Amino acid sequence: MKGEDADLVVFNAEIHILNEGNKIVEAMAIKDGRIIEFGPDRQILNKYAYKSSIDARGKEIYPGFIDSHGHLLSYAELLLSADLVGSSSQKDMIERVVNYQDVNNKKIVIGRGWDQSLWDDSSFPDNQLLNESFKDTPVCLYRIDGHSALINDAFINLLGEFQVPDGGEVLTRTDGHYSGLFIDAALMLLDPFIPKFPDAAIKEKLKEIQSELFSYGVTGVHEAGVDFEELELLDQMATTNELSLNIYAMLSPTQANLDFAKEKGIYRNKNLLVRSFKAYVDGALGSSGALLKESYHDHPNYTGLSLTSVEALSSLRDYCLSVNYQLNCHGIGDSAVARILNMCKVAYRKKPDHRFRVEHAQLVSPNDFELFNKYAVFPSVQPTHATTDQRWAASKIGQERLKGAYANKSLLNQFGMIALGTDFPVEYTNPFYTIHSAVNRRTPKNYPEKGFLSDEALTMEETLRGMTIWGAFASFQEEELGSLEKGKQATFVVLDRPINHTSSFMPNYSWLTCIEGRIVHSLE
Ligand SMILES: [Zn+2]
Repeated sequence: MKGEDADLVVFNAEIHILNEGNKIVEAMAIKDGRIIEFGPDRQILNKYAYKSSIDARGKEIYPGFIDSHGHLLSYAELLLSADLVGSSSQKDMIERVVNYQDVNNKKIVIGRGWDQSLWDDSSFPDNQLLNESFKDTPVCLYRIDGHSALINDAFINLLGEFQVPDGGEVLTRTDGHYSGLFIDAALMLLDPFIPKFPDAAIKEKLKEIQSELFSYGVTGVHEAGVDFEELELLDQMATTNELSLNIYAMLSPTQANLDFAKEKGIYRNKNLLVRSFKAYVDGALGSSGALLKESYHDHPNYTGLSLTSVEALSSLRDYCLSVNYQLNCHGIGDSAVARILNMCKVAYRKKPDHRFRVEHAQLVSPNDFELFNKYAVFPSVQPTHATTDQRWAASKIGQERLKGAYANKSLLNQFGMIALGTDFPVEYTNPFYTIHSAVNRRTPKNYPEKGFLSDEALTMEETLRGMTIWGAFASFQEEELGSLEKGKQATFVVLDRPINHTSSFMPNYSWLTCIEGRIVHSLE
């Protein structure tokens, strides 16, 4: 007789539970959103009286993928702006803005997603062409990394007299006029003039993004930096169950957020967890804002931009330790990474399991790698950045420094875990691109043939752990998420096709995605 109750039984599956031994099982029983038992089909089907069941048709099941670094709100804003992602030339970019404006007729036009490295002329654009199409309407076009923007003269006129803040750059033409290109901290000058999208529009887009993530089996996102209003929006959507995605929100260190952390401490509202801050120590390599120890290869006597000083970083560290929050620092250049690692020395002494993270860690000096181990600093990287940047990385840092660049394997070897993400919308949300980049070090078009810095490739198992259990560790949720073990959340993906172990890219999707035992996406 069937004795025990279950809400759901999943059977006829190849369940990769991703526990220590990497065991594979056929079936699991789920109750109240949690896994209560797994084992062979017959054992589970016979033992439980279940309300519903899923025949997985022999498909592979993995813990729901965690994107350890993404920007939900920036992605929503991108979807509401003129979409410049993949534009093939400056002319193409401007045409897209014109088409957008024909439909939307905005007082101030915002576009997002251009990348000059895709153009025949891959130097930074200036605004002369843009001025021809938009003489009177202010236009601001953000680069794909969000670390620079091109604005037209009508927008420059809005600014009046200004001083470039520390950590920012405003480029000028040879004739002394502003070229329209603003980098990193200089973007703050533009902020007061950037129109806000209505909450309702943002919410609509967030729901679309959530569906996109579920269609790939991504069930959790570490949102890499939100201000207080954005946090409130996510909080509302968690309350109303509009967002069922697991969101681990990192707070920008604004006064309102600092106060929030002090008042609330570790904060959970259903699937939203808040217990970390995010700080930018430098900019991005593609915008020449990454802070390097030695000059840029293509820019002598220039080492990039410092966005958070050693003193400010230390004081943020102490604040985080005092409110029991994690500190996750954007560090791309070797000098920024070194600054973060050295800051962690004190964190490690006061709290050995601090799990402070370096986000990106794209360039690390040979001597600094061991500090990840010494001060227990969690590396959080985006494998697709390596394969996207391989087109131009050497032009920025030269061949010699490539040895310590995009060094996923070396970072893993130091810390013993590595959290993987995409940094969407800078890259696509597709986790199968991440797998292909991490394992084969090639783009979805399988370039370069031999793989980019292929010594730094991860194995398939390491990659899958980086997208599941290590992502859970990186957000203090390993008791709940990241593997399919008894007592943990029944949050998983049934893949449409088996994970591809060959060297060329094969598209894949989720056949079925479940969060806490509830189906949130199904192909059928
Ligand atoms: Zn980011």
